[in-house]
This record gives sequence, C-alpha cells and structure tokens, in this order.
Amino acid sequence: MPKIDYLRISLIDKCNFRCQYCMPEGTKLDYVLNQELLTNQEILALVQDVFIPLGFTKFRLTGGEPLLRPGLVDLVRDLARLKATEDLALTTNGFLLADLAQPLMDAGLKRINISLDSLNPATFDQIIGNRGRSRWQQTWSGILAAHRVGFDPLKLNVVVIPGVNDTEVLDLAALSIERNWHIRFIEFMPIGNPELFGDKAWIDSVELRRLIRQKWGLVESNIKGNGPADVFQIPDAKGTLGFISQMSECFCDRCNRVRLSADGWLRPCLLNETGQIDLKTALRSGVDTADLQRQVGQLLLLKPEINFKERDSGTSGTYTRTMSQIGG
Ligand code: SAM
Ligand code: SF4
Repeated sequence: MPKIDYLRISLIDKCNFRCQYCMPEGTKLDYVLNQELLTNQEILALVQDVFIPLGFTKFRLTGGEPLLRPGLVDLVRDLARLKATEDLALTTNGFLLADLAQPLMDAGLKRINISLDSLNPATFDQIIGNRGRSRWQQTWSGILAAHRVGFDPLKLNVVVIPGVNDTEVLDLAALSIERNWHIRFIEFMPIGNPELFGDKAWIDSVELRRLIRQKWGLVESNIKGNGPADVFQIPDAKGTLGFISQMSECFCDRCNRVRLSADGWLRPCLLNETGQIDLKTALRSGVDTADLQRQVGQLLLLKPEINFKERDSGTSGTYTRTMSQIGG
C-alpha cells in the first residue's frame, strides 16, 4: 500500500453549477449550514496539528465550488506557509477564476485542476445545467488566466458522458498538443445519482485510448502524477493525457488519500462511509489534537481494509451523497 499522505479538503458543498453528473437540477440537497462549515482556523489547526504530524504533505482544496468560499485566498496563504506542505492544489469549475488566478498564485497555490467537459458552449451549458447566457466563455477565460499567471502544468478534468460529450474526446485530447496542459478523462461514477444515465453511463478508458491512438498514436508518459490517473502522451505533444478509470478498474491498492468534508467529517474512502470521524464536533467540544491525531492514525491503519472489502460503487442504492457533498 502507498503511504497515505494526501488530504482532500472540501471548503464548501454549494456550487454555482448544477452538473448533471454531480448535483443535477431538481435534486434536493441538504446544504451544510454556514455555522457547521469548518472555519479557516479549524482547517489550519487540523492540518497543522493532526495531519502534518501524521506525515501528510499534499493537500487539495475542493468542494462544491471552492472559489465560492469566503476567505479562500487567506486560507491558501496560511496553508502554503506551513513548512511541511509539499503540494497545495485546488480543483475548480473555473467560472470565477479569471479574477482569482493571480491572487491564488500570489498566495502560494502550486497547482490547479479545472473541470471542462466540452468545447462546445451549448453542450457545456447542457452539462452544467445552465439555461441563461452561456457560461462557457467565462470558464474558458478562467482557464486562460490560470495558464497566463503560470500554473504549469494546468490540468483539465473531463467527465466523459456517452451521448453527450463523447464525440469531443479527440478535440479535448488535442488541447494537450500545443500547450503543457494535462487533459484527464474521468469515467463517470454513478455516485449519488446512479439512475441518471441508465445502465452503461460510462465509457471505458481503454476505448478512449483506442480512439486517440488511431488518430495520433499514443505512448505511455514518463510524467506520473500523485494520483490514480494512467498517464499517456500523443507523440511529441507538450502535455499529457490522463485516464481515471475507477469504474473499469479498481485502483484501491494505489489510493494514498483521505477526504475531509466541508462540515468536518474525515472519510477514509470516496466509495463507502465506513469509519468516518466527526473532527469538527470533536474540535469544538475541546478534544485535544493529540487525541484526534491518535484517532486519525487508527483510521489510516484501517483504510486498506475499508478500500478493498467495502467498496460500494453506488449501484447497491445504499450510497446517496453526491461528489459535491463529499468533496470530489
Ligand atoms: N466544483 C469543482 C469542479 O467541478 O472541478 C470541484 C468539485 S467537483 C465535485 C470535483 C471533480 O469531481 C470534478 O472534476 C468533477 O467533474 C468530478 N465529478 C463530480 N461528479 C462526478 C461523477 N459522478 N463521476 C465522476 N466525476 C465526477
Ligand atoms: Fe459544481 Fe463541480 Fe459538482 Fe459541477 S462537478 S456541480 S462544478 S461541484
């Protein structure tokens, strides 16, 4: 098993998009009340006094949409200052990034992943559940701003949905040719809303690679990320192509991460709820951080068992929380 040293921190469960695969319009979600969100000070205390002493060095801020979180830039600055922070990254839908890319870079954010499921504004709006003025251009401007201020490599996340954006796989892959952009194709997970796309909602990464190989050829890349992506490259391209195949392949044995939800629950695995710890309630009731460190340390020892034995892909119907609620 790899060392578990990567914490994904959800800063908020709300979002300004309503992506069909995450929080489709019409789904009733119980949002966390503001007073139940971990504060910046609480997040910092947990990172500093619980996770870093346990050997964590990599942190990613996510949500919901993390750019909606008040005080985001201050939090990034505080986390970046911690000596043990080797990697500090953020995942965003990019809509508010044009104005925030520079302040985030100045505050010490090292890496950014932006979700972009389509290059076609109408398809993009359909996926994000937008019926007003198209939101594609502003999102694209956010991506260009991140590139301009120097986030390098820039990673773009694409969830491939059969019948919606699968015809764009080659166009999206082509973005990696001229720029050092890493395009990551993610198999859609029936998480929280398993019935959304019917029986076969995802396309196997092997099939996507076959399409790309046919057009340009494809070689394994020697640039490997921290995560579960299998990384390839179009010959002579500046960037890479990643494939995250959680449906067609079980990569639990490579999993090095745990997740902290916006309301302070520590989850050892995305796909089941076993063993969660309510760190916020513990902190607020005065449990000391040495004790929390001990509890979290024990949970980390159990993680391999939880990954392998109780993985629940959502198809059993027992799994109801969406990615935006867990902190994807
Ligand atoms: N709002 C930000 C964004 O969209 O990038 C961050 C949070 S979002 C939950 C994090 C990632 O989870 C995004 O790349 C999104 O595409 C992915 N995601 C959400 N629901 C998913 C699902 N059902 N299957 C696969 N990926 C999903
Ligand atoms: Fe919002 Fe991200 Fe979920 Fe889309 S994937 S609804 S942008 S949290």
